[in-house]
Amino acid sequence: MDTSSDSNVSNLALEINDLVVEYRTYEGVVHALNGMNIQVETGKTLGLVGETGAGKTTTGLSVLRLVPDPPGIILCGKIKLNGEDILAKTEKEMQKIRGKVVSMIFQDPMTSLNPVMTVEEQIAEVIEHHESITKEQSIKKAREMLELVGIAGTRGNEYPHQFSGGMKQRVVIAIALACSPSLLIADEPTTALDVTIQAQVLEMMKNLREKYKTSMLMITHDLGIVAEICDMVSIVYAGRVVEHGTLEDIFDNTRHPYTEGLFNSLPNLADRKTKLKPIKGLMPDPSNLPAGCPFHPRCGYVLDICNKEKPQKIYRTDKHYTECHLYSSKSMVEGKVIGR
Ligand code: SF4
Repeated sequence: MDTSSDSNVSNLALEINDLVVEYRTYEGVVHALNGMNIQVETGKTLGLVGETGAGKTTTGLSVLRLVPDPPGIILCGKIKLNGEDILAKTEKEMQKIRGKVVSMIFQDPMTSLNPVMTVEEQIAEVIEHHESITKEQSIKKAREMLELVGIAGTRGNEYPHQFSGGMKQRVVIAIALACSPSLLIADEPTTALDVTIQAQVLEMMKNLREKYKTSMLMITHDLGIVAEICDMVSIVYAGRVVEHGTLEDIFDNTRHPYTEGLFNSLPNLADRKTKLKPIKGLMPDPSNLPAGCPFHPRCGYVLDICNKEKPQKIYRTDKHYTECHLYSSKSMVEGKVIGR
């Protein structure tokens, strides 16, 4: 079953097909993305979930064509943004797309903010880049954006160091949404914040998403955030999606052993006696990926075939698939093989 059919392209804000990205370093070739496939439906939020080093950030950077080159190189695959082929665009065309059609929020707001510019100047700069507008108008709009993210517009003439971490991230979100992009890529946007501030920023992002009808790619390792904000979920391991489905599919009908491992790694506050069961081992070295299923050295269900052949997609429903040999001989529909 091919979910990349042209029939539903118009319904997709973002479609990535078979994307392969490498970083060619002096130490060797790092296989960052190995046939990445994701789809973000218009107006919906897709959670891209996995451990550090799974290829989540490279996926986001690829959409903006910001994979550092060298050493990064997009070898093959397709990226379509609102149906348009991003990989065919010139750098000049990309400059019009970044910030206007797609924006990205990064984990650490300090890497996104300029310490020697006031926050309103930084928001206004993006607006002026994309719109024919006077300085006065852009500053007025920048202050309105600050109000929208819960910061008094009168604080617009202050510098980033005068704001707390949570407020800096709000400024970054104001910059990202200043030109009402149709797609927002949020890369661990609350990881650097305190837990209570995380909840506030997440709630604000949810409200802004509704207000602007923005489609969203939420990059995270946190299944709590996924449950809070996502409609669809793609679980990523070693540069490709190993399980994909709706929120209910992934939480209530888990199929892939790696997804199961992510859930088992979560603390259970109601049952504090049960010990956490972290996934054994580490993410494989992306410059030396294991043969067959890349998860096989860590998998508790490993079969003889697993270190020899790559598993193919097996569908449980038209929206829920996994790549795992456990389901090759029996339908995903028949029931869970794994223990969750
Ligand atoms: Fe485990 Fe094999 Fe499935 Fe990979 S294909 S997740 S090694 S059972």
